Amino acid sequence: MSTAPLALIAELTHRCPLRCVYCSNPLELRARSEELSTETWVRAFEEAAQLGTLHVHLTGGEPLARGDLTPLVLAARSAGLYTNLITSGIGLNEKRLSSLVEAGLDHIQLSFQDAEESSADTIAGCSAHAQKVAVAQLISETRLAFTVNLVVHRRNLDRLEEIISFAERLRPHRIEIAHVQYYGWALRNREALLPTLDQVQESVAVVERAKERLKGIKIDFVTPDYYATFPKPCMGGWARLLMVVDPSGKALPCHAAGVIPGLKFENVKEKSLRWIWEESSSFRRFRGEDWMPEPCRTCERRTQDFGGCRCQAFLVAGDAAATDPVCSLSPHRHLIDAVLKRINLSPLSADIGSSAEPGAGNVKALDTDLALRQRWAYRTNPAGVRERPEL
Ligand code: SF4
Ligand code: SF4
Repeated sequence: MSTAPLALIAELTHRCPLRCVYCSNPLELRARSEELSTETWVRAFEEAAQLGTLHVHLTGGEPLARGDLTPLVLAARSAGLYTNLITSGIGLNEKRLSSLVEAGLDHIQLSFQDAEESSADTIAGCSAHAQKVAVAQLISETRLAFTVNLVVHRRNLDRLEEIISFAERLRPHRIEIAHVQYYGWALRNREALLPTLDQVQESVAVVERAKERLKGIKIDFVTPDYYATFPKPCMGGWARLLMVVDPSGKALPCHAAGVIPGLKFENVKEKSLRWIWEESSSFRRFRGEDWMPEPCRTCERRTQDFGGCRCQAFLVAGDAAATDPVCSLSPHRHLIDAVLKRINLSPLSADIGSSAEPGAGNVKALDTDLALRQRWAYRTNPAGVRERPEL
């Protein structure tokens, strides 16, 4: 029998006013009509707390797109869960923020695409950056624990120092610098998002310097696993620490697990969270070590990384039960190396351009931004959802 999930990741909706090119939401998004009712979410939070879960991460899509977010926070807090809102900030104003604080919200994680407005808006696929900065100001004036999340990739990594200084001015308690992980829309845009080795190495040095300088702000750094020797312990191990519930109520061991064929994911409308966690075939499928192939089965690192990511194994190697292909011991590592070779051979300006090229005038920069926007696969929305106007 496994212990309780430490956290419930509640994907309240797949609707979002932004269209980020690195969004990890699935390509097939859940429609608004499929979303769980307030009552079912409240029951799920109560069941999670009874199971022994400590945290709920309210995420999406954009959770602020749900009109019942405040009652949901109140319900989660009343159940005894620590509540974290993961948001783009679009849809948050002073009144709504204070109602969330009054309902008992504990923490906000606000994401930024860049420090530079035009680049940030290009990545988000709409004009959002200025409003996010205003929202950060509002959050910093509340009692909430505040994390600024910076998503970094090939296009913005050369400005990391500037981006960290920007984040510092927003007065968070914590800064999370996360390299894009290649699932969902990010996998579609992988060739344009993956940084070069030089960029990754420089980013490590920049983060080390920032940690030294910013003693009062905690900095967490998620490096790109494609350049690692061993994989990350994805989700802390399959069905070991975390449970995801998607907008329609489907419970998954990982937000990307829906891509794996042959697994039956139960719905919280029909089964209790306890039964799903302890008994369901999908949660048991890759839990522990019995499923592991060689070289994981006899590897001494198997209790640290749990064989890596099952979704990545499926998406890259076509077999969810294979060793994560980013592992240097994997028989599929050559697939990752081939991608990295392509990336490192092509100069930055050749594939995605740069609005910051030396000597580039405004007109050229605008042209480059337009060309960029035409090349990205922007995340869509479930049908019938009004997005922010495109740039
Ligand atoms: S589009 Fe952007 S803001 Fe919206 S859910 Fe995806 S990553 Fe988050
Ligand atoms: S062989 Fe398996 S357990 Fe060993 S490091 Fe690679 S992924 Fe981890």
